[in-house]
Amino acid sequence: MIDLKQNVQYVKSVGPAKVALLNNLGIYTLEDLLTYFPREYEDRTKTKKIADLVEGDEVTIEARAVSEVSINRIRKNMTILKLIVEDDTGRCTITWFNQTYVREHIKRGETYRFFGKVTKEFNHLQMTSPVYDEVTTLKNTGRIMPVYPSTYHLSQTAIRQAVENALKMVEKKLIETLPNYLLTEYNLKDLETSLKQIHFPSSETERLQARKRLVFEELLTLQLALLELKGQTELEEGICFEKEAKMSDVINTLPFKLTKAQLKVLEEIDEDMESTKPMNRLLQGDVGSGKTVVAMIAAYKAVKSGYQVAVMAPTAILATQHLEEFKKILEPLGIKCSLLLGGTKVKEKREILEQLENGTIEVLIGTHALLTENVIFNKLGLVITDEQHRFGVRQRTAIISKGENPDVLVMTATPIPRTLALILYGDLDISIIDELPPNRKKIETYAVTKRLEERTNNFIRKNIDEGRQVYVVCPLVEEKEETGEEEKKELKSVKKWTEKYKNEIFPNYKVECIYGKMKQAEKDKIMEDFKNGNIDILVSTTVIEVGVNVPNANIMVIENAERFGLAQLHQLRGRVGRGEYQSYCILKYDSHCSQVARERMKIMQETNDGFVIAEKDLELRGTGEFFGTKQHGLPEFKITNLFIDMPMLKSVQSVALKIETEDSGLKEEKNAKLRKLVDKKLKQSVAL
Ligand code: ADP
Ligand code: MG
Repeated sequence: MIDLKQNVQYVKSVGPAKVALLNNLGIYTLEDLLTYFPREYEDRTKTKKIADLVEGDEVTIEARAVSEVSINRIRKNMTILKLIVEDDTGRCTITWFNQTYVREHIKRGETYRFFGKVTKEFNHLQMTSPVYDEVTTLKNTGRIMPVYPSTYHLSQTAIRQAVENALKMVEKKLIETLPNYLLTEYNLKDLETSLKQIHFPSSETERLQARKRLVFEELLTLQLALLELKGQTELEEGICFEKEAKMSDVINTLPFKLTKAQLKVLEEIDEDMESTKPMNRLLQGDVGSGKTVVAMIAAYKAVKSGYQVAVMAPTAILATQHLEEFKKILEPLGIKCSLLLGGTKVKEKREILEQLENGTIEVLIGTHALLTENVIFNKLGLVITDEQHRFGVRQRTAIISKGENPDVLVMTATPIPRTLALILYGDLDISIIDELPPNRKKIETYAVTKRLEERTNNFIRKNIDEGRQVYVVCPLVEEKEETGEEEKKELKSVKKWTEKYKNEIFPNYKVECIYGKMKQAEKDKIMEDFKNGNIDILVSTTVIEVGVNVPNANIMVIENAERFGLAQLHQLRGRVGRGEYQSYCILKYDSHCSQVARERMKIMQETNDGFVIAEKDLELRGTGEFFGTKQHGLPEFKITNLFIDMPMLKSVQSVALKIETEDSGLKEEKNAKLRKLVDKKLKQSVAL
């Protein structure tokens, strides 16, 4: 048998230089290489006769070289090679640039297969820079070729060659990873065949069968691992919060009536808190649906039962805002709330830590600063994290370990379709606030192109003249040469747009900008000014979280809206519509944008419902932007595409349940292979 963990350097054709480049793609071992799946495929099986070629075709032709390869040096770094070929229907010219080695390979009178793009030059069809084979071999033409996600420095050919060699290395030596009974029952191909066919499919049917098996394995492993995790937390003994600590006691002091949805999730939370099982609950609700007050009520119950509460938010602004809201409701009820940020002064910090350890502080709100080692609770009973997608599972675990099996409530405004959430957060129970507080006006959304610029500006002027305020969000400036360096790009961007708004469009209004790199004090000052109405138009990028409540701001303008994802657009829109005024979101987009971008604009205009938007997003681009980034602790898939594979996901879920019910812990011999897969999964992933 073969060691899949061996360094990728032992694969033929992979020298030291390539090792480094493969490492960049996250490929370190033979196994990594074998499971580096193609992004897409290029079908080079389609063959045409020369007479049938059409401009734009990407096809294979089989033709005889009827000339020598001629070389023309047209510039210092540019040579053009030309060859005339013919089949029984006609002739055409083949052109290459700079690939002088072609001359050694192609012989006049011999027949070759060429695959490439058909272009037109001076009314003559030709093929440009094709790959080719001698007619007796199938290497570059006549097959379905994998296209791998790659970087500029590593060619497709290099990756293909490495994968091909890796496949040869493991031939007949691979250990099947799935139990035989599953392969038979669900009609799945064996591992070796599937790996071969996913990289170099002999037909579309074969490829789909290979994919089916690999997706099955990936999803089944995830499901089994999640079931196991969930089983474990359920076994642990948690805190039983007091029945006498009644949520209704704080609910009755609120200045508004809770919505039905809020009451329903509170009931679920209450039940969890009173049971011995540690609560592990995800609270989903759109921006403004009133999650904070729910968290506050849960905190009340914990404190009245004699425990402390930790509330963790992703940014200082949000944490500060939470503190204000918590204080308003909880302090009159005799509960002490405090704030701990990275920037909290040393002396104040010492005091807070002391009061936390002796139990004087009952609710501690803060940022990542809460995770620091010297933050010690007297009796932590409830952990609340806001905006879950910002925290990894590891951070969640770090704060949880500051108590003894505390209850956990994870809040997120990222709407995830329920079907998906159930699966992805298999280890959490889910509560959803699917209703906004009454009398919220729908934010009217308009997608506009340059043509309506003047009208848009007049509309903004009119609103400011009536006393309102405006947010402008601009995208980062794209710089072709410079990669990374968000800060620089951000600064350039904000400057460019602020100038435009300040000097060109709204010279008679107060325009200011805010950006990530600014000093905290400066940022606070600007936000304060905006809050107090001293600034009419606030320009920022999305790098900075302007999560503060400014009920007087009623217009959100998004420049180059086509460059933003649906999730982001929706979150940005949520910054307005927080007061009594009718609010607007203006999406300025480039009329030459892609079809998908146009579709996004349409969806934004049609609905304000984050869950609908999430579903649409999923539809538009597979796993969608909601799940597109790696930072949010959702599982990463090697081959699964959650949109395409939703039916598979559902059936695998029931397969997993059945297996787990019949053989909990996967102890039976027939499930030994599954045990191995799950152990590996649990070991390797922080986030699953
Ligand atoms: P989220 O955190 O879900 O985005 P918030 O908790 O910040 O939403 O609530 C938004 C605003 O709505 C807050 O000002 C809050 O006081 C208010 N609010 C919450 N619940 C209700 C309700 N049932 N009725 C009226 N206003 C509410
Ligand atoms: Mg909130």
